[in-house]
Amino acid sequence: MGSITTIILFSMDCIFCKIVAGDIPSYTVYSDGSAVAFLDIFPHAKGHTVVIHKEHAPRVEDTTEQALAQVMLAVKKSMEKIQTALAPDGFNVGINDGVVAGQAVPHLHIHILPRWKNDGGGSVHSIIKNSGSEKVADVFKLFN
Ligand code: 5GP
Ligand code: ZN
Repeated sequence: MGSITTIILFSMDCIFCKIVAGDIPSYTVYSDGSAVAFLDIFPHAKGHTVVIHKEHAPRVEDTTEQALAQVMLAVKKSMEKIQTALAPDGFNVGINDGVVAGQAVPHLHIHILPRWKNDGGGSVHSIIKNSGSEKVADVFKLFN
C-alpha cells in the first residue's frame, strides 16, 4: 500500500508565510522565485538575516530536497549581499531545528549572523556542552 504525502504550501497561522504573502512588512535582503531573506526583527548582530523557502514546512525533516537546495542557494546569495553591504569578517549560519533547539517560528529558516573581529560572540560550539559519558566509538555503534 502506498503512502499519502501531504504537501502544505502555506500556513494561515505562520508569521513567515505572512511575510511571503506581503501581509507583514519586512526588510528584504534577497528574494528569488523560491526563497526570500529578510532582516531579523530582533537582531543578534548587525545585518542578522533570516532565509526561508516560500513554501511552508516546519523543520528540515519536513522540507523536500529540492526546497532545501533552493533555500541554501538563497543563503549563499544573501551572504554575498551582506558581504557587499556590511563587510563582515565572517559569518555563523545555522538552523534552530525543533523547539528544544530554540526554534520559535515553525517555518524552517536559516539564520545568517554576520561576525566581526572582537565582537564578543562565540562559535556554534558554544550552543551546547552536553556530550555525555559515552565514548565517540560507542556512540558510533548506535548508527549500525
Ligand atoms: P527561531 O528562534 O525560530 O530560530 O528564530 C525566529 C526568528 O524570527 C527570531 O530571531 C525572531 O527575532 C525573528 N522574527 C520573529 N518574528 C518576526 C517578524 O515578524 N519579522 C522578522 N523580520 N523577524 C521575526
Ligand atoms: Zn510558514
